[in-house]
Amino acid sequence: MALASNLASAGVKPWDIVTAIVSHAHVPSSGGARWLHDNHKVTIAARRPDSRWVEEGDPVKTAAVEYGVPPKPVPVGLELSREGRLPGGCEAVEVLFTPGHTPGSVSIQIETREATVLAVSDALGRLRREWASSERDWIESLEKISSRDPDYLCTSVTCMDRKAARAFLEETREKGPFWDVEGRATYG
Ligand SMILES: [Zn+2]
Repeated sequence: MALASNLASAGVKPWDIVTAIVSHAHVPSSGGARWLHDNHKVTIAARRPDSRWVEEGDPVKTAAVEYGVPPKPVPVGLELSREGRLPGGCEAVEVLFTPGHTPGSVSIQIETREATVLAVSDALGRLRREWASSERDWIESLEKISSRDPDYLCTSVTCMDRKAARAFLEETREKGPFWDVEGRATYG
């Protein structure tokens, strides 16, 4: 499983995790949540309506159909109902609402002693009608993300330093929102 091996390579023990924030419903981002919940009693956090789709295992809204895998429904123990610092003493983690790709997409900004990291997952990824994507929300989320100045910006594909992030955001702005009507693209 990708999540287990990624955690291992980062030196993170899954049983040490208290809360896992699911950025949005799609299986590449939410599929490991059930393993964390069932095997390591991790509280899953997500924002509506994506949280509901994850709980229900909605095959279309989780993009399980598209990726050709079964949905993995999992209880969401923490609804992210507002932006800001994560409740429960996780002062270093700030939740940002970045809808557009899906209506419940969230990004998180993490402050460590070494660096500030903004993780946006698929927030700037493609749009699909089946996911209830919104072009207007996507543009607003791009502006919100661009207003930050983290040391590193991470998408679901890669992490970039500040200079590369600025170039990436500029390029994303120039390209504009991308409606995917034909099927799977490489990003998102
Ligand atoms: Zn996605």
